[in-house]
Amino acid sequence: MDLSNSCSFDGSPITGEIYGFSSSNEAISIVDEIVGHIGLKRNFQIQASNVPNAAATIRRSPNGTYERYILYSQSFISKIINRSNSYWAAIGVMAHEIAHHLNGHTLKGPSRPPTELEADEFAGFILYKMGATLEQAQSMFNNSLMYTRYESATHPATSARLEAVAVGYQKAKEKDGKTTVSKLPNYKKNYPSTTTKTNYPNTTTYPKTTTTYPKTTTKPKTTTTTNNKVFSLVMGKGTGYYGQTWKTRTDFPNEEIKKGWNEDRYITSLTYGDNKWTLVMSKGTKYTTQRWRTRTYFPKDEIKKGWDDGYAITSITYGDGMWALVMSKGSGFYSQQWRTRANFPKDEIKEGWDSGRQITSLSYGDGKWVLVMSKGSKSKLQKWRTRSYFPKDEIKKGWDDDYDITTLTYGDGKWVLVLSKGSGLYSQGWRKRTYFPSSEIRKGWDDGKTIISVNYGGDN
Ligand SMILES: [Zn+2]
Repeated sequence: MDLSNSCSFDGSPITGEIYGFSSSNEAISIVDEIVGHIGLKRNFQIQASNVPNAAATIRRSPNGTYERYILYSQSFISKIINRSNSYWAAIGVMAHEIAHHLNGHTLKGPSRPPTELEADEFAGFILYKMGATLEQAQSMFNNSLMYTRYESATHPATSARLEAVAVGYQKAKEKDGKTTVSKLPNYKKNYPSTTTKTNYPNTTTYPKTTTTYPKTTTKPKTTTTTNNKVFSLVMGKGTGYYGQTWKTRTDFPNEEIKKGWNEDRYITSLTYGDNKWTLVMSKGTKYTTQRWRTRTYFPKDEIKKGWDDGYAITSITYGDGMWALVMSKGSGFYSQQWRTRANFPKDEIKEGWDSGRQITSLSYGDGKWVLVMSKGSKSKLQKWRTRSYFPKDEIKKGWDDDYDITTLTYGDGKWVLVLSKGSGLYSQGWRKRTYFPSSEIRKGWDDGKTIISVNYGGDN
C-alpha cells in the first residue's frame, strides 16, 4: 500500500510493507458513531494494520476506483487507552483520522502542522458531541505516549494539539447553545499577537506575518557549502565563574542542562548557530535556581509567569525554530523589561537607560530584536555599537576607556557590541573562528579566563 500522502497520527514515519487486517467490530463501531454524530454515513474502509499508530489514506482498488481508508494499529490503540487511562483517547485518534478525509487533506499530500491541527480541532468538536469532558477529549495527547515538546516538519507540538482540541470542543459547546461564551479561545491567535498585557507602550512592531503556525520549513537554514560565518568567542576574568563546561548539541540540550544543574552548575550562555546549540554552564554564579522554556512563539506568558515566580530573565535566544528562554533566581536583576522590535531597538535602549536599567540581553531571531533591560545590574554605564564588519576597533577603544564586553552578537546583517563599565569584568579577549573554538576555550581556561559568550554569525 502506498501511504505517502497519509497522516500518521503522531508523525512517525510509515515505512516498510504495510498490510491491512480485518478490523475489530469495536473499531468499526467507533468510526460509525463518529460519522453518525455529524450526520454522515461511513464511506471509508477501516482496517487494522501494521502502521505505527493510525493513518488516513486513499488507496486505489484493483478495479481502478479510489477508496478512503482508515488504518490503525490495534496495539497502539490499546496502548493509548492504557497510558491515558481513557477510552476517549482511542475515539479521538479515529476522529482525527476521519477529519483528514472529510477535510480533503489526504488528497493534498503529506501531513503538515496546520492540517494536523485542523484534524485535532475536529476531534475536539466531535468528542464534545459524543459527551466527553474537555479533559477526556484531550486525553489522546495528554499522555506519555504522545507527548512531544517540539513541532516537527509534519506534526505540531503537543501543546498546540491540546489547544486545537480545546478550540474544537469549545466550538461544539457554543453551537450546542448551553453556554454563551463570548470569547473563543483561538490557538491560531496565540502566536505573537498585537495585544499585550504588559505595560509596554508599543507592540506594533511585531512582524505581522502571522503565518499562524511557526513553520519548520521556513527555518533559516545555514548553507554549509558557501559558509563564511564565524564563531565569536568572548572570554575574560572577573565573572566569578569556575568549573565551566560547554556542550554543543544538534537537539536542544535538555539532558545536559539537567546534568549540569545536578552538578551545581547553572546556564551562563546558551546560543544557537551552525546547526547546533552551544550550552555553557558554570559554577560560581549567584543563581540559586534556574528554569528554561522553549517555545515556537515568543514566550511572553512564560516570562510573565517567571517574573511572578520571582525569576529574572538571564538569557533569551532564538535557534532551530524556537525561542529558548532562561530565567534565574539570585541574579540580582529586578524591574526587568523586554522589547521586541523589527529594527534595532536604539530608542528602547535609551528609554531603558533613562529609567535606570542596563542591557541584560540583546539578541536577534525570527525577524526581530529582543532586548532585555534590568535594574540591579553591576554595569553602571553602557554603550552599544552596531557594525556591518566585526567591531574590533570598537572593542579596542572600549577596553582603552575601561569598558568591557558584556554582549557580542550578530543579527540582521550586523554585529552588535554592548560595552559596560563597572561590570567587574577584566582581562578580556575575543576570538573569531570558522570552526567551533574548542582549543581557544581550553587556552582561555588555562589562562584563568572563563567564557562570557559564544555566538555564531557574521562574516569571516
Ligand atoms: Zn493527522
